[in-house]
Amino acid sequence: MTSRNVLILPGDGIGPEIVEQAVRVLDKVNTQFDLGVQHESALVGGSAYDETGSPLPEETLSKAKAADAILLGAVGGPKWDGLDMSVRPEKGLLGLRSNLDLFSNLRPAILYPQLADASSLKPEIVAGLDILIVRELTGGIYFGQPRGIRTLDNGEREGFNTYVYNETEIRRIAHSAFLAARQRGKRVCSIDKSNVLEVTVLWKEVMEEVAKEYPDVELSHMLVDNAAMQLVRAPKQFDVMVTGNMFGDILSDAAAMLTGSIGMLPSASLNADGLGMYEPCHGSAPDIAGQGVANPLATILSVAMMLRYSLDAKDAADAIEAAVSNVLDQGLRTGDIASEGSNIVGTKEMGDAVLAAL
Ligand code: NAD
Repeated sequence: MTSRNVLILPGDGIGPEIVEQAVRVLDKVNTQFDLGVQHESALVGGSAYDETGSPLPEETLSKAKAADAILLGAVGGPKWDGLDMSVRPEKGLLGLRSNLDLFSNLRPAILYPQLADASSLKPEIVAGLDILIVRELTGGIYFGQPRGIRTLDNGEREGFNTYVYNETEIRRIAHSAFLAARQRGKRVCSIDKSNVLEVTVLWKEVMEEVAKEYPDVELSHMLVDNAAMQLVRAPKQFDVMVTGNMFGDILSDAAAMLTGSIGMLPSASLNADGLGMYEPCHGSAPDIAGQGVANPLATILSVAMMLRYSLDAKDAADAIEAAVSNVLDQGLRTGDIASEGSNIVGTKEMGDAVLAAL
């Protein structure tokens, strides 16, 4: 059996508390499914700055490069808000993304039927929602050159950015989306603005080319304005949505909010070699850090994504997701997803319940 190395980065705030529960779950499935996973921990974010003077110590980066997958809690907090930008905790996260070339951001928006009341939309529209948004993370208008604010001859200022994607960038995110779709409902909807923007005309063409390599996956296209509308009108029509950096930024937040419960949402950022960094969508929640009340489920579900997308252990991933559904069926809720009459538990009790369900 090949061994797989996972780097654990607890980070700041509630990070260490939620990651502790996620690691217990990882250890359990590791034994149950004989996965051969080994893990070690390292510092990142504010806690790394406190110990070493850097939010991304050299040792952490080299361990990250050598790992098969990374599990991260969250970084940041008011303690470090006054620091210079170059050493802020968030720099640790961005440094990992850029150094490891994590261009493919996978953000599921899953609404467990048991939590349908948490959404701002009607339960029948969102119950059972299970969308995966695949967002290009290292290119597009957020990085395109030239960019800036210039003063014209008439003295008026003008802001400008460049929306650019080359074929290689589009092709690799397309492969990411098709491969992910193969693990799910086998449908990809590519989101563009090809009625106005040439860059997305090319995007659409390359998507069509790559689709030929995945005859088992169905490809469709949708304009981004319509996609925004469809997400709030009938979100369950989507399986995998793939799009560029800016459209993905906006649509993935909208999709996340359909579920109404940020404490439940995992995410993955992958590079071309399959190395992935897995983390909850939420932040370090300084307002509840150290109280033992944070919801560990987004981090536990991030472990499931890690098993599915980086460690080729779909059965173990399925088992974790089923266990999470099972504890929700039992009525167990942390404060953030509680409603009237639910049985409110803390971080560790929620971890215990998932372990028991496994
Ligand atoms: P946040 O996601 O940390 O918190 C928003 C709200 O949601 C808070 O009320 C918090 O208590 C609650 N919440 C979040 N996760 C929860 C969980 N697992 N269980 C229960 N409740 C939960 O966002 P914020 O308050 O805007 O940011 C706090 C800090 O986190 C900032 O320093 C920010 O920079 C950082 N941040 C980090 C990441 C990351 O590490 N990927 C992402 C976003 C924000």
